Amino acid sequence: MKVNSGYNVDLARMSLVKEGLYIGSRTDAIVLANSKPPDDKIRILTVDLEPLGIDDGDLILSKHVQCLDEPEADLLSFFDECSEFITKGNESKEHVVVHCLSGVSRSSAVVLAYLMKTNQVSLGEALVLLRTAYPKANPNDGFVEQLQLYQAMGCTVDKTNPVYKQYRLQLMASQIQRKQYASKDLLSFLIEELQYTSSSGNKSYKCRKCRLSLFDVTSVIAHEPGSGQTSFKWHKQDLYEVEPINNYQCTSLFVEPVRWMLPLLEGTVDGKLPCPKCNGRLGSFNWAGMQCSCGKWVTPAFQIHKNRVDEILNNYVRPAAGSKLEPS
Ligand SMILES: [Zn+2]
Ligand SMILES: [Zn+2]
Repeated sequence: MKVNSGYNVDLARMSLVKEGLYIGSRTDAIVLANSKPPDDKIRILTVDLEPLGIDDGDLILSKHVQCLDEPEADLLSFFDECSEFITKGNESKEHVVVHCLSGVSRSSAVVLAYLMKTNQVSLGEALVLLRTAYPKANPNDGFVEQLQLYQAMGCTVDKTNPVYKQYRLQLMASQIQRKQYASKDLLSFLIEELQYTSSSGNKSYKCRKCRLSLFDVTSVIAHEPGSGQTSFKWHKQDLYEVEPINNYQCTSLFVEPVRWMLPLLEGTVDGKLPCPKCNGRLGSFNWAGMQCSCGKWVTPAFQIHKNRVDEILNNYVRPAAGSKLEPS
């Protein structure tokens, strides 16, 4: 690193988390990028609504993660790629700057995820590490829950993990409840993501009336029968009082939203779920959640009555191409 007193002063304005890694506000990052000696390499990770607006080139490598400082904003999905960006900078001895608008919540959440992953420490230990260097660090409640989930998934974003899928669904449920509207774009994006990360299981479900295949067993969201909340803690659920029911039989299946539901979900927050082929009644949905017959409150709820569908075992193996198993 070339000696440049102005630049070093600007680096000192930001807080050093560990060697080569700095955290701060948008203003700190702009000042630093502008005073950078021309032959020094620097990486800037912007976690904010707007990009920093400083061109790459001049040995600046920037990355922008578009995110609001709101509990319902998704940062978890970006923790792995942000950690990788920071790690690559560390490995090539570049200064890495992580910033958001005021350098309090979003940038802290990303740096905490990085510390948890690379130092293999818990969220609590990472918080102590970061706050020792940077007392301002204070991720919002939603980001803290996302960091807890990240820890529960072994500091890897596994999009096929049911815990992650449930997180995405509940995040979407919060957004849709707040707007009281579900747009087609938002729904399509969610449904495609859920389908993409589903493997096909050993069972699927068909409409009892018309035999149309409706969903795979991997789309079923299991719950422990009984009264109370779903296992994943989410603040919105606290708003609902759940009446205990002494019947612990689940008469419904709760599933992820699947493609054929899209036209039914668009523009509304609750409604019926008829079969897309025979129009027979299958169940109903509500983004704010519904209570299962066993007493469990499930949020969001895409409820299918068990007596409207048949479970089919997927044990049919297609004969290999060219093989002659049946007389022609
Ligand atoms: Zn139940
Ligand atoms: Zn049907």
